[in-house]
Formats: sequence, C-alpha cells, structure tokens
Amino acid sequence: MEDCIFCKIAAGEIPCRKVYENEKVLAFEDIHPMAPIHVIIIPKRHIATLMDVDAEGMADLQSMMSAAQEVARVEKVDQKGFRMVINCNKEGGQVVFHLHMHLLGGLRLKNGLA
Ligand code: AMP
Ligand code: ZN
Repeated sequence: MEDCIFCKIAAGEIPCRKVYENEKVLAFEDIHPMAPIHVIIIPKRHIATLMDVDAEGMADLQSMMSAAQEVARVEKVDQKGFRMVINCNKEGGQVVFHLHMHLLGGLRLKNGLA
C-alpha cells in the first residue's frame, strides 16, 4: 500500500524502535507514548481496519494476539498487567488506517474511556 505509514515501517522504509517481529507481525514503540510502555502491533500485510478483517485476516489477528503475549513478556508486564486497544474508524479514534493494536502498560490504568 503506497502512502501507508505502517506499511512503510513494515518494509523498513521508515525506521522504528522494534520490540518484536516474526514472519507475519511487527511490534514497535509508539512515537507518542500515552503510557510508560506503549507498543504498536501490526500485521505486515495491509489491512485497513478491524472491519476489513476477513477469514484470512483472522489468522493475522491471531498472530497479533500471540505477538502481544510475547511483547508483554519482553516489556515485563506479563504478570503486572497491561491493556490492549484497537481503535476502529473515525469515532473510534483511528488515525492510521493500517490495522494495529496498542499495548499499554507500566502504570496503574484507570477504567473508563478517554
Ligand atoms: P490510532 O489512533 O489507533 O490510529 O493510533 C495510531 C498510533 O500510531 C498513534 O498512537 C501514533 O502515535 C502512532 N504512530 C504514528 N506514526 C508512528 C510512527 N512513525 N512510529 C510509531 N508510532 C507511530
Ligand atoms: Zn498499510
């Protein structure tokens, strides 16, 4: 996908602070962290939003969830706890239209939104 910032990161055309990578998935530090630990987990192939996940995309989501477990271990929040977020479309707060999960941790997160 041209002009997709996360595709460019996946292709190595834009640098990132990589946390974890495998064949299907890449995880890197968010450039504007909203918590002491804020990692973005993406599928390497372009999927625009959660609503664009088809049967094949479900395998990517599964890989992203497995990667999240690994990231939690790497960041040493697997026991302490963390939060996963997927923003979908405009009212969901999605800004980058390449499917991604946020892994947030390193502080006691409050319940509730925004
Ligand atoms: P969302 O609002 O769910 O679309 O979140 C997009 C996230 O991507 C935001 O938290 C941004 O800070 C983050 N982001 C945007 N560009 C980059 C980049 N080049 N490297 C790392 N994180 C980025
Ligand atoms: Zn993309």
